[in-house]
Amino acid sequence: MNIILLGPPGAGKGTQARKLVDDRNMVQLSTGDMLRDARTSGTEMGKIVADVMDRGELVTDEIVIGLIREQLTSGTAGGGYIFDGFPRTLAQADALGALLKELGETLDHVIEMQVDDNALVARITARSTCGNCGEVYNDNTKQIPADHVCTNCGQKAEFKRRADDNEESLKTRLLAYYKQTSPLIGYYYAKGDLESVNGLDSMDAVAGSIAKVLS
Ligand code: ADP
Repeated sequence: MNIILLGPPGAGKGTQARKLVDDRNMVQLSTGDMLRDARTSGTEMGKIVADVMDRGELVTDEIVIGLIREQLTSGTAGGGYIFDGFPRTLAQADALGALLKELGETLDHVIEMQVDDNALVARITARSTCGNCGEVYNDNTKQIPADHVCTNCGQKAEFKRRADDNEESLKTRLLAYYKQTSPLIGYYYAKGDLESVNGLDSMDAVAGSIAKVLS
C-alpha cells in the first residue's frame, strides 16, 4: 500500500509517517529529509539547494523527482511507501503517477492533514528534534527532557532546531504551500483519491483517523 501525506508545513506529516513506519513497517520517503541529508553530507546537490531551503522556497521539480525516482527504483518497499512532503507541485504529482505506473505500483490513499495556520506557526517555531533519532519535541506540548536523554531512543542527544523553522522562512513556506502545493488537494479530489483528517487533534487521535482511512 502506497500513500501520500498532504498538508502544510507543521501539519504533522513527519510525525505520523514515523508512526506508520513503526507500526506497519512502511517506508517513509521524505524529500525534506533527503535534501537535508544531501546538505549535511556536503554533496554538490546539497550545496545547490541549501539557500533555497533556508529561504523556505521550493527546490526544483527536477531535483526532487530525481531523488524519489532513485529511491523507488533502488529501495525495498516493505509495507509500502509513505510520501511525506512529496509531491508538492502538480508537475511532481504527475511525475509520481507516471513513476508508480512504470513500476507497476498503485497509489492507494492521499491523506490531507487539515490544520489552521495559527496552529502551524505556533507548532513550527516551538519544535526541535533529537539529533540522534529524529524524534520531534515541542516547547509547549512535549518538552525536551531536562537530562537531554531522548524518550524515544534513550540516548543523550543534542536537540536541534531546523534552520528554516523561523518566522521569516515560515511565511515563505506557507506561501509556497498555498500557491504551489494546495492545488494538489483539488487534483487528488478530482481523481477520487483524497481523504481528509483533522490534524489539530492529538497525535494519537490523528494516528487513529489515519488508521481508519487505511483500514
Ligand atoms: P516542512 O516542514 O516545511 O513541510 P520539509 O522537511 O518537507 O518541510 O521540507 C523542507 C524544505 O525542503 C522545503 O521548504 C523545500 O525547500 C524543500 N523541499 C522538500 N520537499 C520538496 C519538494 N517535494 N519539492 C520542492 N522542495 C522541497
